[in-house]
Amino acid sequence: MLPVAVVGVSIVDFSIAVATGVALGLASTLLSSIYLHRGLAHNLVVYRRPLERCFRILTTWALGINARKWVAIHRLHHAHSDTRRDPHSPRFYSGLEILRTGKMLRTFPDSRAAALASDIPDSSSLAPTIGPGVVLGALLLQLGAGYGILAGLAWVLVSKVSGSGIALWCHRHKQEGRPIYESINRPRLALITWGESLHANHHSDPRRLNLGDSHVADPGYLCVQIMARAGLATIDDDCATTRECDVQ
Ligand SMILES: [Zn+2]
Ligand SMILES: [Zn+2]
Repeated sequence: MLPVAVVGVSIVDFSIAVATGVALGLASTLLSSIYLHRGLAHNLVVYRRPLERCFRILTTWALGINARKWVAIHRLHHAHSDTRRDPHSPRFYSGLEILRTGKMLRTFPDSRAAALASDIPDSSSLAPTIGPGVVLGALLLQLGAGYGILAGLAWVLVSKVSGSGIALWCHRHKQEGRPIYESINRPRLALITWGESLHANHHSDPRRLNLGDSHVADPGYLCVQIMARAGLATIDDDCATTRECDVQ
């Protein structure tokens, strides 16, 4: 193996770049879990206005996600899980198609999103295009070209594994060698997905904020609880919506 000095790579800078990317990936997944999913899509938690604003700006400009479209796609997923009308069922879409969440969001019709998620404010159509570029630009400025790109790749990798991985691995399992398409819990992924991989628990009752059970804790729920205790969020099981059940 070549000594690190020979190939011009500082092990410290390399580690910082990878750690930065992984931390950004985990933060992105946490934001998706506690804001987009449990907050907006299911109305299980309401955040105080300054924090909600902050989450909305980060979702739009850092992750480049159109929140209204994300919620619309998720509500369709609940209404038509594991059928041809499920927008990201591993039964009907390839892994590559499911991983390309950006394309899925871009091509989802505005009118359909408005009909399915009229309660979610529409976000800038510009942000989903340049949003992740803002973060990548900051990484390049902070870490330099090589390490900045490395951190960006780590960010994308962790975000994809923990985000799209839910659709890929939590709706497909094998029984006697045959693929079965239905929601399933993946406890080993619970830490990096902030509990979202406890997916059968979620589908069994989408109004349940705590996705954990007697075998495994839900880290996303713990985060929401901490925010609620700090007065930054209100947990109200009664405000949970059943809207997704009405989606056609
Ligand atoms: Zn699902
Ligand atoms: Zn859901």
